[in-house]
Amino acid sequence: MPIINNMSSYEENYLKKRPQSLCKMCGKCCRVVTNTKYTYEEIKKLAREGNEFALDFLKIFEPYPSIEAAREVDAGIVDNIKKYLEMDGNYHEEKMTFYKCKYLLDNNMCSIYEERPTLCIHCPSSGWVVVPPGCGFEAWLFLQREEDKQKVRRAKEEYLELQLLKRKTKDAAILEKITSVEKKIQHTIDIFKAYGSDNW
Ligand code: SF4
Ligand code: SF4
Repeated sequence: MPIINNMSSYEENYLKKRPQSLCKMCGKCCRVVTNTKYTYEEIKKLAREGNEFALDFLKIFEPYPSIEAAREVDAGIVDNIKKYLEMDGNYHEEKMTFYKCKYLLDNNMCSIYEERPTLCIHCPSSGWVVVPPGCGFEAWLFLQREEDKQKVRRAKEEYLELQLLKRKTKDAAILEKITSVEKKIQHTIDIFKAYGSDNW
């Protein structure tokens, strides 16, 4: 799980259909990890405030002393994450920290597998997680992303149809329903905003 974020109901739905058998158990996603949502300082602050995700994160991960140190362990993962973040204009080197899990064994097995935290069970937690090159989920995650894009395109088509419908009615009850559906459609688009849904 090279990039970790908090869960949402979208991710929970996605997890139900994820074929876990695709995992090659290579351990790469436990060896070099980052978090794009929070800096290391922010995670520590959240943990002090009792945030469950942050507490779990710090329980298992320890930071590499530098990005170069993480690159020495697996340059492919670090460069892959950097490439994806740069594509979206989200790579800010001064905010980046890479981590390694304390519980990964030399044979790539997890020494606390039965008690591993939820964030590990959920990984990769959405089609948009950047996985290490060669990860068994790569192709499947690509298909998930394409499905998400189609979902957003359909939502945008429905939104346009609603705009036409709006022009044809003055019925307050119908207009209220339209507004409610519009909000749901906007929510669907917003879920994927960080990945560029405005342009799909
Ligand atoms: S990198 Fe992919 S294939 Fe390897 S252990 Fe992690 S999830 Fe499984
Ligand atoms: S606790 Fe286990 S599954 Fe989670 S990152 Fe560490 S080695 Fe991987």
